Amino acid sequence: MSQNVRRDAPDRMTTGSSQGVILLGFVFYLSDMNNGGVASGEIRGRLMDLEFNDTSRDDHSLILVIDRDQEGCEQTLRVLQDAGYRATWAEDGAAGINIAEKYRPNAVLLDLNLADMSGLAVCKDLKSKLLTADIPILFMTGNPRTDDIVQHCFDAGGHDLLSKPISRVELLGRLRVALQEQTLRDAYRRLAILDPLTGLANRRQFFLYLTEAVMAAKRNRTETFLILADIDNLALVNEKYGHEFGDEVILTFARLVKRIQTNSCRAGRIGGEEFAIVLTDSTPDRAIALAERLRQTFASVAFDARSQPKHFYAGFGVARFDGADDAFNADIFMLHADIALFVAKDVGRGRVVGHWTLDPNSLPIVAPHKRHARIRDRRRTQRSFIAAPGGESAEASPVTPKQS
Ligand code: GH3
Ligand code: MG
Ligand code: MG
Repeated sequence: MSQNVRRDAPDRMTTGSSQGVILLGFVFYLSDMNNGGVASGEIRGRLMDLEFNDTSRDDHSLILVIDRDQEGCEQTLRVLQDAGYRATWAEDGAAGINIAEKYRPNAVLLDLNLADMSGLAVCKDLKSKLLTADIPILFMTGNPRTDDIVQHCFDAGGHDLLSKPISRVELLGRLRVALQEQTLRDAYRRLAILDPLTGLANRRQFFLYLTEAVMAAKRNRTETFLILADIDNLALVNEKYGHEFGDEVILTFARLVKRIQTNSCRAGRIGGEEFAIVLTDSTPDRAIALAERLRQTFASVAFDARSQPKHFYAGFGVARFDGADDAFNADIFMLHADIALFVAKDVGRGRVVGHWTLDPNSLPIVAPHKRHARIRDRRRTQRSFIAAPGGESAEASPVTPKQS
């Protein structure tokens, strides 16, 4: 007999055989993917989509149940489904970890005693990985809840501990609380990392991607590329057609950039009309071809196509890191891409230039205010805004022209 859900739970649990079929279909779908039904790049691509586009994690949340008690699991899954959740099941810890990494469920119900490893070990594993660390984990146990067990569950990063047999009301109530907290955390996270206009990674987040990519290139000795793109003459566009129109031009470029995102090709909006893409484990030809494709596609878009078609252009600077130089970092990468972009803009509108193709003896000097590289040792006194003697904020020279 099932240990998972109390038999005195409402009879809704035993209804819904058609949902059971859907559920089984979903489980087979997952297991088919585990067997290599879908290429890993494709799965990673979907995870990226989730990360950037999913604004409603609480709707039809996916709950993963990891438990070896098959009969009890079926009942738990039915309770979850009846409550509107999507639910799936893993029989042991290894399979559970696998599914969690690939599908990032919104919550995990995890039995403490599994056949292959302890529930605590599964929890610690999921909490140690960036992709799964934020998934709330609710432990379940059929054993008495001693202080020691409770302590271990929370120490492992668990969100809650439920005693079997679990009442339907308690299961759904505690799950709802965990999901609501998670939704709130997700919302804050999105606010912190995404650019509000385009939904791309913001500048801060992009620098994290870039730093990560530089570290990975050093570790794996693979070639990594940084593409900087700057829309041409946007100030003029704003002036001539209005700011809203300028926004549409930025959004259109961002949409094109979003389409090429994968786990090995991450992008961000790092300034007003400036975008950056980091391409890991690639080649100079592929990086240049990618920038060229973006350039051409953007140039081919006709704005106001029905009345007065207008085309806009962007310049691209591409920098390369072969993973060999230990002293190389994200700032140097940015500086190289900046120099290439500067040359691209200098030779004419709508160009792509690779930094490695430039003569190292006659590189242009990019004025500091045109650079995207961060200045690490910027001191308090160098901030552009300082407190005025009266306590109000005032802009410091040299950016403010002196009034005569
Ligand atoms: P260049 O070809 O040299 O890049 O010229 P530019 O006009 O694109 O570049 P500049 O750096 O002189 O000016 C950037 C312009 O981008 C000015 C600013 O108003 C505009 N801009 C920045 N952010 C936004 C935005 O969010 N929306 C709109 N519509 N315009 C923006
Ligand atoms: Mg610019
Ligand atoms: Mg520009």
